[in-house]
Amino acid sequence: MNVIGLIPKSNKNAESNLPSLNWYDTTPNYELSLDQFEVYALKRLKVLRKIEQIKMMKVTPDIIRQKLDQIIKQEDLTDHDMDEASHFILRLSYCQTEELRRWFLQQEAALFRHRLQALTEQQLAHAVRKYAQLQPIAAAEKEKYRDALLQFTTPVEFQTAQFYAVPFTQALSLLATRQCFLRAGSAYVPQSKVLTILEAKFRTDLARFLALLANAGSFQAAQDAEASRIFPLLKNMHRALVQPREQQMHLPEGQVLTADNVEQFTSSMPLCMRQIHAGLKADHHLKYQARLQYGFFLRGAQLSLEDALLFFQRHFQKVTNEKFQKEYAYNIRHMYGKEGGTKDGRKEGQLGYGCSKIIGGLVAPSSANEHHGCPFKHYDEQNLHRLLQKLNIGDEKDRREILQQKKMQQYQLACLKHFEVTHPNAFSSDVPMDNVGNHPNAWFQASVAYQSKFQSTSNPSQPPKAVSP
Ligand code: SF4
Repeated sequence: MNVIGLIPKSNKNAESNLPSLNWYDTTPNYELSLDQFEVYALKRLKVLRKIEQIKMMKVTPDIIRQKLDQIIKQEDLTDHDMDEASHFILRLSYCQTEELRRWFLQQEAALFRHRLQALTEQQLAHAVRKYAQLQPIAAAEKEKYRDALLQFTTPVEFQTAQFYAVPFTQALSLLATRQCFLRAGSAYVPQSKVLTILEAKFRTDLARFLALLANAGSFQAAQDAEASRIFPLLKNMHRALVQPREQQMHLPEGQVLTADNVEQFTSSMPLCMRQIHAGLKADHHLKYQARLQYGFFLRGAQLSLEDALLFFQRHFQKVTNEKFQKEYAYNIRHMYGKEGGTKDGRKEGQLGYGCSKIIGGLVAPSSANEHHGCPFKHYDEQNLHRLLQKLNIGDEKDRREILQQKKMQQYQLACLKHFEVTHPNAFSSDVPMDNVGNHPNAWFQASVAYQSKFQSTSNPSQPPKAVSP
């Protein structure tokens, strides 16, 4: 096993008795194998991406809490060492650029807030003491300011709650919304509002550490000979597809994709695949990159090899049977692992290109008859807007929000928004939403499952109706 550090196992938060809260103020000090290094980081990345995804959805705070608890447990971030190590690995990876630092900070702060909200009163009081070094004011002082404090709390809370005198600079958001009493440079804050202060402090500290790491050239330092095994991992972590490659897509029971019904499933495809399909119909042909992108997608959606051959041959109307067999059939069989070995490690039935590859790993389409790529990335704003209008995706406000994400280069979030707009309440249902916005097949699977679930008069053997025209 490759060991990157030889250090004693940590004392598992014995003192604090706060299993799920960590300020990450001490560097982890225990042994970790190279395999663990990668697995831990990917698990945290999955949680952070889920947080980003959830923030895009219009769901109630209860559902947000429930979904986050679920993913945190599923990815073992309830384990203190795993939580701590994965945070520091991603901290090093995400200090690379301003944009990555901002993203990491946002998601980590949201995760921290979620954990704070789950603390009991006693745990919160402990956290306030430990992390913000704040002590509650004495009973006499509380009594002295009774009238003023009662303006910011109920009489019952006043009787039972502890109050903290905090330097006003730490309570700016509470002051701005008039939620605390200010006197002589101190903000008097009831315990129930102290979460805001802890979160603000967490953000400030993490932002400072990330900036320090970046300025100290820590990321570049990871290139040295000793750390050469982890440097590529750190460098590319933010592009990682967090879904295991082996994971396959499953359509709801009774639904099977065939050469005859692909057309009827197009309304459940993400925009990239819809556009390739539209290009295929218009040109009766697809260029190499689009053939691969769409072919692997269809394979991931469980279209059989025989149906894939039939499907493409039917659409390539201008190509003779002989030419199709010679020039295209081999490639399709190769995609299914039936020809030429498994050059890129693919096995039969595995998924195709993920969003990060489509967005950043393919040569951008350069002519009108090249249909591969991601419309959110590769179309200009005008074309994308026109397409959204043409497909009747959302109302004008929704379309503006999608375009806004594109402007901010958040292409996958734009795609997620597209899903949200065309599948109302999907997120609060039990439709499998994992990796929507990360992988076209996940988008497809979630859309088909959604249609299947919410079609009241459906015949389960039939493909779903269009989500949007
Ligand atoms: S974000 Fe991914 S799934 Fe969505 S359109 Fe782009 S490549 Fe396709």
